[in-house]
Amino acid sequence: MVAVRSAGRKTSLLSDLVTAHHILHDQGVLDAFGHISVRDQRNSGRFWMSRSIAPAQVTRDDLLLFGLSGNPVDGSSRKLFLERFIHSEIYRARPDVMAVAHTHSPMLIVYSVSSTRLRPLSQVSGFLGTGAPVFDIRSVDKGGDMLIRTPELGKALARKLGQSALVLMRGHGSATVGDSIRQLVWRAIYAEVNAQQQIQAMLMGRVKYLSRQEARHAARTIPNDPDRAWELWKRNAVKRQW
Ligand code: MN
Repeated sequence: MVAVRSAGRKTSLLSDLVTAHHILHDQGVLDAFGHISVRDQRNSGRFWMSRSIAPAQVTRDDLLLFGLSGNPVDGSSRKLFLERFIHSEIYRARPDVMAVAHTHSPMLIVYSVSSTRLRPLSQVSGFLGTGAPVFDIRSVDKGGDMLIRTPELGKALARKLGQSALVLMRGHGSATVGDSIRQLVWRAIYAEVNAQQQIQAMLMGRVKYLSRQEARHAARTIPNDPDRAWELWKRNAVKRQW
């Protein structure tokens, strides 16, 4: 009975992971690049992630189980994402994190190269707290290809993330974390929405951001019904796929 229940949980976890790829592609957060992972429910030192493939094309058969070394536990010879160390090192540094996304979503890159901090201006973006930290790979690797292709670079990124929900990666993208796949998807979508709104608001004059306290409370209580947004995004993604 226990085994059956645990197998059921695993099935729904992995099916949510596949759906998350399709939703973030449909919402314009992931294009041909980027990846999402989820920590394994039975072994916290392992996580699930797809082989190297465009997010919109991910199916259950593309998912592999990785150890915190960043290598597949079954020794699979399938082509892997070079930047899988973003995931392995964040899971190592943050025991509270259950899901991670790396995206190149367009407006976040604008903030990654600017001195303007990405800050929450509406209640759905409270998870941005007092502003997103920016990781500049140049601080640890000068003149490289800017990819997080080693555990050392992954560690440096995880250090900059600290206890935040999201870290911007200068001239590259971002890494977002969540305590579930659904919370992660929420954050990845609303970070991009907030980035667009913030530029619009700045054009109009001085911006009144959420205070530290408002951001903290909003992040805790909103979404109070994450499944409502998830089901809608999922329906749209399925409807529009091919
Ligand atoms: Mn990347």
